[in-house]
Amino acid sequence: MTGVLGQSLAKVLGTRTSGALDKLGLVTVEDLVRHYPRRYSAPGELTDMAALRDGEHVTVMAQVRTATIRQMRSRGGAMLEVVVTDGRHSLSLTFFAKRAGVLRMHEDKLRPGRVGLFTGTAGSYKGKRQLVHPDYLIVGVDAADADEATLEASRPIPIYPAAAAVPTWRIGRAVRTVLDPLTEADVPDPIPESLRLAHGLPTLLEALQGIHVPADQAAIDAATHRLRYEEALVLQTALARRRADRQAHAATARVGIVGGLLETFDARLPFALTAGQIQVGEEIAADLARETPMLRLLQGDVGAGKTIVALRAMLRVVDAGGQAALLAPTEVLAAQHERTLRDLLGPLAHGGMLGGAKVATRITLLTGSQGSLARRKALGEAASGGAGIVVGTHALLSDTVQFADLGLVVVDEQHRFGVEQRDALRTRGERVPHTLVMTATPIPRTVAMTVFGDLETSQLAEMPAGRAKTVTHVVPAGNAAWMTRIWDRVREEVAAGGRAYVVCPRIDGDVPEDEPSDSLGAIDIDPTPNSAAKRPLEAVVEVATRLRDLPALSGIDIGVMHGRLGGDEKDSAMAAFAEGRTPVLVSTTVIEVGVDVPVATVMVVLDAEHFGVSQLHQLRGRVGRGSKESLCLLVSHVEEGTLSHERLTAVAATSDGFALAEKDLELRREGDVLGSAQSGGRNSLRLLRVVKDAKLLAVARDDARALIDSDPTLAAAPALAEAIAMWLGEREEFLERT
Ligand code: ADP
Ligand code: MG
Repeated sequence: MTGVLGQSLAKVLGTRTSGALDKLGLVTVEDLVRHYPRRYSAPGELTDMAALRDGEHVTVMAQVRTATIRQMRSRGGAMLEVVVTDGRHSLSLTFFAKRAGVLRMHEDKLRPGRVGLFTGTAGSYKGKRQLVHPDYLIVGVDAADADEATLEASRPIPIYPAAAAVPTWRIGRAVRTVLDPLTEADVPDPIPESLRLAHGLPTLLEALQGIHVPADQAAIDAATHRLRYEEALVLQTALARRRADRQAHAATARVGIVGGLLETFDARLPFALTAGQIQVGEEIAADLARETPMLRLLQGDVGAGKTIVALRAMLRVVDAGGQAALLAPTEVLAAQHERTLRDLLGPLAHGGMLGGAKVATRITLLTGSQGSLARRKALGEAASGGAGIVVGTHALLSDTVQFADLGLVVVDEQHRFGVEQRDALRTRGERVPHTLVMTATPIPRTVAMTVFGDLETSQLAEMPAGRAKTVTHVVPAGNAAWMTRIWDRVREEVAAGGRAYVVCPRIDGDVPEDEPSDSLGAIDIDPTPNSAAKRPLEAVVEVATRLRDLPALSGIDIGVMHGRLGGDEKDSAMAAFAEGRTPVLVSTTVIEVGVDVPVATVMVVLDAEHFGVSQLHQLRGRVGRGSKESLCLLVSHVEEGTLSHERLTAVAATSDGFALAEKDLELRREGDVLGSAQSGGRNSLRLLRVVKDAKLLAVARDDARALIDSDPTLAAAPALAEAIAMWLGEREEFLERT
């Protein structure tokens, strides 16, 4: 970013102010003017002070009632006590100084009758609420002249996302200092003029003025709408350009053959494919037969049978002389995929080996934690083309991995919505592989359009026949009888040959699980206070110890599984569970995706409210994979009537992942559908709300596609191109940090 917007705040505001703003991640002029108010306080309106709690950083609007300077006998020095009120409650503001003179400046401004914004940390002294040394802004005084003061006092007052070190009024002042002198020429507009005029939108400068210095609510609305559209347009243009780029690349067409691996595999399958599997298979086959790279998203609820669909696509590519790579998010899943594929392929995976089928290929596993010997062997198999199928984690994306002829990349269980990973593999040569992204997190249509706007999508809507259902209950953790019943039930299931998962949000005492969770189900801390806030969350290590001592489970071996175990330890923990040596597995969400132990019939989720709706649905998908009816128990301390409780009840009431995803969106507080990768950064989506702004997104998508069609390099829209570059750059930064 060049020009005025790219200037550092240190240069424009001085290092004292810029140092404070830096704490909020605000470094450049653009950062600051894009730091939008969180809300507005109506001019003159007194903020309700009833809800102040000790220790909270607060901003209240109140009227000064009294201001008194006193000498302090005991401590020496002087004190100014100001009592302010919102009409019902009062609050003391206290200022201390060595000499009374120092306090005169405050006393002079804080005259009885004046109204101001007061910012500080709430505390109590002798039972009275107080703010010590608050920052304040007096309406009508902290402005240059009388006219301006009148104007300022009549405006909605922006309340900024602030920190203790940088109160909202200081941010507001800094914003005005940089914003007021800006001219249209200083603020290049990412929205091309033709689109701006067509939609009747204000310029970027006008919008920034409208959002920071609004005359009234209508000005705020107009500015916000325009800035939302801008975000939608940047996002959609990035996607449209990506789509166009892809169409400009060539891929090798992979056409199936008669009598090959795929046909042999289909003939050996012990079950019939579902209609959905057949149809999606045909869609993929048609894509693979083209010379433009496929980029398809396959959505299907947990257990819908996506693996078979992916494997059939991989076999088609191998039949056509290429290789396929299967990418899993964790080593556990990669290892498990490799086993699953081996089982499904049987002798078809024994290419060149004794006992292999006549048409056969080989599978190799490549992960980060492999020993060097195994790794070298796997690398050799990939490079020579000996392995038709290479399974791995993101280690597969490293430059050291060479393929003889990579024709297809399958990305499984992609929850983090990252387009970057797909790209990494696609940009490694003249010809790019076809890509199939699979997700078990059902994505509501609006989100799919936003995040995967550049992908074609397929859905596996129905479940394979013969699947037993899973019954889900919400269990109050405080109910001792219920809790006893749970562990009895676990013992019964184990006695009958079943397995039980016990899921906890933490590994041990105070260490949260560090495995990434899916963005859609990201932990969404409920604002409703509940007893869980004061209780440490259940942790794998402690729960395992507790269960081992439980009479109900005596004689049953209990395994543990979490993200801090090494790859081998995870594998052996999983194997011990699958084989029944430890029929109860206490785990974090590392078992969230993909893990397939069909005899597992019970899942107990402790502190269930700590998980997102979609994440719980994912977890629940680990049971009910066999022919026996399964049980999922969501244990929680949340009280009925809270939002958290409603979320758990929704999970218990619905087994349809898509319905649940929609419900999740509905219950979710503002935004954050896109996860931190898309919403956390400095220049990413701030105002756009995927669900609420679905219409706007659709409009922006059409605009973006038309724009890219007529101007593929955005030569005529440099500010838009730059906005996209910043947005993408920041996401890469984010990925490097994680
Ligand atoms: P997903 O990856 O979509 O969660 P999987 O591919 O792991 O689901 O399939 C779940 C289980 O269903 C596996 O054990 C798989 O072998 C089985 N399965 C897949 N397709 C069918 C089918 N058409 N009929 C019966 N079982 C199937
Ligand atoms: Mg799967």
